[in-house]
Amino acid sequence: MTDRYFENFMSDFVLEKATCVCENALTGSGGDMGIHGAEGGRVGVCAVGAVVANHQGNEQMVDYFLTKFKEINISKDVQSEIIGGKAGYLWACLFLNKNLGHETISSAHTSAIVDEIIENGRKLGEKERCPLMFESNGERYWGVARGLAGIMHVLMHFELKPDERADVKKTIEYMINNRFPSGNYPRNEDMKSDELVYWCHGAPGLALTLVKAAEVFEDKEMIKAAIDAAKVVWTHGLLKKVGICHGISGNAYVFLSIYRITGHVAHLHQAKAFACFLLDRGHKLISEGQMHGGDIPYSLFEGVGGMAYLFLDMTDPVNARFPAYEL
Ligand SMILES: [Zn+2]
Repeated sequence: MTDRYFENFMSDFVLEKATCVCENALTGSGGDMGIHGAEGGRVGVCAVGAVVANHQGNEQMVDYFLTKFKEINISKDVQSEIIGGKAGYLWACLFLNKNLGHETISSAHTSAIVDEIIENGRKLGEKERCPLMFESNGERYWGVARGLAGIMHVLMHFELKPDERADVKKTIEYMINNRFPSGNYPRNEDMKSDELVYWCHGAPGLALTLVKAAEVFEDKEMIKAAIDAAKVVWTHGLLKKVGICHGISGNAYVFLSIYRITGHVAHLHQAKAFACFLLDRGHKLISEGQMHGGDIPYSLFEGVGGMAYLFLDMTDPVNARFPAYEL
């Protein structure tokens, strides 16, 4: 979502409320919330709070949230994944630097965590086969929420050493070469049933990661693989849930991402088709019990909040980004 939205839609009242929600979440009276990250959501709350306060022009609150963010200690034992792990923390650092300025969070700080992730991945990886591999709660996931694709996605935003860059590329190629014949991607290294077409597990999340890989490595094979993943999303991705994590709204972002990198308007039409399906039939199908309104009904990731976010993004599709994943 672009700055334009803040200018056009966010009144001072809304920004003030949003700042209060973040402040309450931090002090514990408003419960937990936030984009992914370690420390039970504090990472996300501090990052969002700082950016909202910045849009409000409230320098004191920007300093407050940034100070709280910098106090968070990411211990070496924290997992590497995006949800609740070091990659999620690094994404929050990227989000702050994009919105508040380069080096708001220093590259010296982030590169130390990048190195820890690479070092951790090499312990479970196999140099010639798949150089980087990670475990989360005993499972070697491939998807973006807890596994390889998400960690690779975040790493590609940083300046990597040549050997690190080579390992990231080879790990992505390993996933492409070992995808299902259908074009979809396994949930994890050991489970080979081809069924999930979600952002969190399967082709949609991989497609977004492959678009980033195509930009970073300027590799046509990566674009081709991203388009292949989008084909899976088109044929199997009209899900029964509405959110962005494992619902239709999230899958629509795949087409917007492919449209951005290829410029082919057919992909924009695919995104519109998914969005129009939700707009025309979502409410009715949910009320009839044929679709699920979301495990957490108003949530951005699992509820109608994600659908609303998609509708807003469809007004400016070139600048649309999957929230809390694409920058
Ligand atoms: Zn999910």
